Amino acid sequence: MHYPERVLVTGAGLAGLRTVVSLRERGYAGRITLLGAEERPPYDRPPLSKKVLTEGVDSVGSVGSVDPSLGADFAALDVDFRPGETAESLDVGDVGDVGDAGGSGGSAGGSRAGSGGSAGGSVRTNRDKCGFDRLVIATGALPVALPGPGRQRFLRTYDDALALRAVLRPGLRLAIVGAGWIGAELATAARAAGASVTVVEAGPAPLAAAIGAAVGGLTARWYADAGVVLRTGAPVASVEVGGLALADGEWLAADEIVTAIGVRPAVGWLAGSGLALADGVVVDGGLRASLPGVYGVGDCAAFWSGRFGTRMRIEHWDTALQAPQVVAANVLGGSEVYDPVPYFWSEQFGRMLQYVGRHGAGDDLRWRGDPAEPTWTACWLSGGRLTAVLSVGRPRDMLQGRRLIAGRALVDPDRLADPATPLKSAIA
Ligand code: FAD
Repeated sequence: MHYPERVLVTGAGLAGLRTVVSLRERGYAGRITLLGAEERPPYDRPPLSKKVLTEGVDSVGSVGSVDPSLGADFAALDVDFRPGETAESLDVGDVGDVGDAGGSGGSAGGSRAGSGGSAGGSVRTNRDKCGFDRLVIATGALPVALPGPGRQRFLRTYDDALALRAVLRPGLRLAIVGAGWIGAELATAARAAGASVTVVEAGPAPLAAAIGAAVGGLTARWYADAGVVLRTGAPVASVEVGGLALADGEWLAADEIVTAIGVRPAVGWLAGSGLALADGVVVDGGLRASLPGVYGVGDCAAFWSGRFGTRMRIEHWDTALQAPQVVAANVLGGSEVYDPVPYFWSEQFGRMLQYVGRHGAGDDLRWRGDPAEPTWTACWLSGGRLTAVLSVGRPRDMLQGRRLIAGRALVDPDRLADPATPLKSAIA
């Protein structure tokens, strides 16, 4: 097996870190360089909108510390981790005058054996130029901003979460734009901190874009029960100093504004590189990009799914965790395919939501349990097969549903609708 000499990974989030760990676990002993735009070592994002915002806040408002670090040991991994170093451009084919990816390390020995073929190039950063034989792009995603001169906060990085935590206090008038997953979790945390919270949503219901208005609308009551004002069908025109200008001309005063209307893949630095980009780095089922030796993984990558017959870009933690194993295998000459049943969870208003699968607008919706009760499950069916499951406080439904979806099992809708019958017993 001829392994590449130098692997460069851009983006030190979960997907980037798991890529370098997986390379080492597979016996790769060549040079690895990991570029991270943030000054911090890799950390986990899910706690940022949950424990990081709420834990450690005592009655007088001083904060303790909740550490979301992923605990990477780069010395043990023998990885040249470069915090604060941002990839700014890619030149595939330019391998001549550089060779410093991985530092001045010389031969890494072990299973390293040659250049791994003609693929290669270089990435120019804010500090350096890094040559590579294989490049893994794992630059994640960046929040979408609203127009206007007012200050809008976001919740994407650990620093964002620390800054937000520092301002959350009883009586603060907090406006959150967007009733998606992040908006709901932030509203939960802000209420726990005593803030006066208004969530403004352009769509007809919370989570409408993610799971449809019929199911998302059921969560509206949770906002009211928590004392959060929810305004749906209320697009924001601009963020102004001291509040929000709504599209219908109404003014909503706020001390702090958080924009949580979604993210876009962080691929601006690849413009002009010749790499195919379309809502992220276009990759095949093996996570290979359109230029030789280049791969994409995590939030920034739009991969081809044979299972669903479409290209998908999944902004889920589970994908950032699992897909790097496929990338690492293929960087080392393998032919593995990443084609998951997508999985996502959210903790909001004291509930655990888990969504697995992928449903279309025309899929048949069935309930397991009464949505007015604390726990229930929504199931989507197409052609007699389960396509997706949203469980609220019913983790077994999610686990069993994931297996049914993966196995493309035909299900009996009546047995499926009985919450006392295990979902796995609904196979027709
Ligand atoms: P990222 O985590 O975005 O990491 C990419 C890294 O690359 C970043 O550190 C970035 O600074 C860096 N970078 C960007 N551009 C460059 C560049 N040009 N050069 C070098 N470095 C660069 N998912 C769930 O399934 N459940 C949850 O409950 C959940 N909660 C979440 C809560 C929050 C607040 C957020 C923000 C996300 C949450 N997610 C959740 C989503 C999940 O965290 C992401 O899908 C996951 O972090 C994606 O990992 P990634 O490594 O692909 O991208």
